[in-house]
Parts: sequence; structure tokens; C-alpha cells
Amino acid sequence: MTKSSPKKAPRVLAVSNQKGGVGKTTTAINLGTALAAIGEKVLIVDMDPQGNASTGLGVPRETRRITIYDVIVDGRSVHDAAVKTAVPGLDIIPADADMSGVEIELSQADRRSYRLRDALAAQTQNGQTGYDYVLIDCPPSLNLLTLNAMAAADGVLVPLQCEFFALEGLTQLMKTIDMVRQSLNPTLEIQGLVLTMFDRRNALSGQVAADVRAHFGDKVYEAVIPRNVRVSEAPSFGKPVLIYDLKCTGSQAYLRLAKEVVGRERRRLAA
Ligand code: ADP
Ligand code: MG
Repeated sequence: MTKSSPKKAPRVLAVSNQKGGVGKTTTAINLGTALAAIGEKVLIVDMDPQGNASTGLGVPRETRRITIYDVIVDGRSVHDAAVKTAVPGLDIIPADADMSGVEIELSQADRRSYRLRDALAAQTQNGQTGYDYVLIDCPPSLNLLTLNAMAAADGVLVPLQCEFFALEGLTQLMKTIDMVRQSLNPTLEIQGLVLTMFDRRNALSGQVAADVRAHFGDKVYEAVIPRNVRVSEAPSFGKPVLIYDLKCTGSQAYLRLAKEVVGRERRRLAA
């Protein structure tokens, strides 16, 4: 960064895995909350037409006035679209079902895979961002929304459910990341893998965790997210689990993960 541009760009992480139900949204919401709790300024971008991250953070459908669709298709600014959540330091750009038309709307558009990247860059240029982290909650499919997320991201954060088919979904994701590096975003990194829904009473969970660590080494976070009923209850109250029940094992695991994410980022900046 040059002296004439003092504005710091946030670290942009795409929370992605082409398998559904592996904990992407849960991780975006709760890692985002945990990062905010330890003093980082965080923006969650809900890129899934299901809008689960928006619901889980207490943004009801009827209040989603400006959504990520308006940013990507109509060029609305990040500043206009971001809304505050009940968590201090945590904002969200909500999503709703109208996103399903994005592919058609943008079929002729310029830089159609870079719409989110350009919107975030404009925000940084304006000096309006002030965010330390942007977490993008990706849909499970590989579509233009996912490509926009990966084109905008510095790194991909991969939640992996500790079950038998975990590695299979991962092969797909690695192919996608390679493809994105070759075309849209040559510097895209794998930020890290986080094991989710770990059940210590289930031998298979332990085996999958060991296999993933053998394969990906220190790319796998030490913090492991346990299967915890409080984590799955929280979204129906429109709350992150850290607000719903700070003491539960799920909340504590997401706090450990947040500290690791920040630690890695500090080491990366110092290197
Ligand atoms: P994705 O976004 O990858 O589709 P979700 O984050 O929506 O996955 O999680 C899928 C389901 O699993 C949801 O019902 C969620 O509440 C539940 N879930 C996620 N993480 C946990 C956990 N650590 N413990 C218990 N349930 C979880
Ligand atoms: Mg999801």
C-alpha cells in the first residue's frame, strides 16, 4: 500500500463448500460474531438466495430493503446495503429469493464475475469501509454468485462436516478454486479448513478429522466446532449462538476459531 492510500482493505473470506448442510452459514454467522466480540469490525455478505444468514442474524424478510442483489445487479453501494445487526461491530448485507434471477440479469453485463469485488473496492476507496473482515456466505452450487464471491475473496474458508463424504465434496471445491485462480483471481488462497459438527462419541468423526489433518496439515484450524444443539437452536431466535448461549461448547469453539483466524492474519501481515 502506498503512502497516498491510507485506506485499509478488509480481509475478504469466502465461506464456501459445494456441499450443502456442512455449516457454511452457521460458521459465517458465528465466526463473524466471535470476530466482532474480540474487537474486529465485520461485514457478512449473504450470497445465498435462501437468506439463512440474514434470518439467523435477526434481519426479517420484510426489512431487507436493499439486498446483495441490488449491489450485484444494480450497482448499489456496500455502504447503502449494509445493515447493523444486534451484535456491535457486525453488519450484514442481506439476501432474499430475488437473487435467483442474477444469472439472467447479468448475462450481458460487463465484469459480471467482478461485481462484488468492484463494490468492495469502491467502498475501500471511499474510505467508508472500516471493516477488518468481510465474510461471504456462499450458496452450495457453483453459480455466478459463488464466482462473484471467489473473485472478490482473498481466501476461502472451508467448513467441513465430520462425516464420511466430507473429502468427496472437497475435491470438487479444490477444482473450483484452481479454476478461479486460472481465470478470475490468481491470488486466491485457501485460508483454512474448519471441522464442524464434530461428535466425539462417534469414531467416524475422529477418523475424518484425522484424515483431513493428514491431508491438509496446518491449513486445518486447531479449533473444532462440536455438534451442539444450542448452535442449531439459535437461528430460530434470530440470534448468533454467542448471544443465545455464550457458555455453550459451540460458542466457545467459535471464539477459539476467531482467535486463530486473527492470529493467522497477524502472522501473514508480519511475514
Ligand atoms: P450450510 O450453510 O453449509 O448449508 P448450515 O450452516 O445451514 O449449513 O448448517 C446445516 C444444519 O446443521 C443447520 O440446521 C444448522 O443449524 C446445523 N448445524 C450447523 N452447525 C452445527 C453444530 N455445530 N451443531 C449442531 N448443529 C449444527
Ligand atoms: Mg447456507
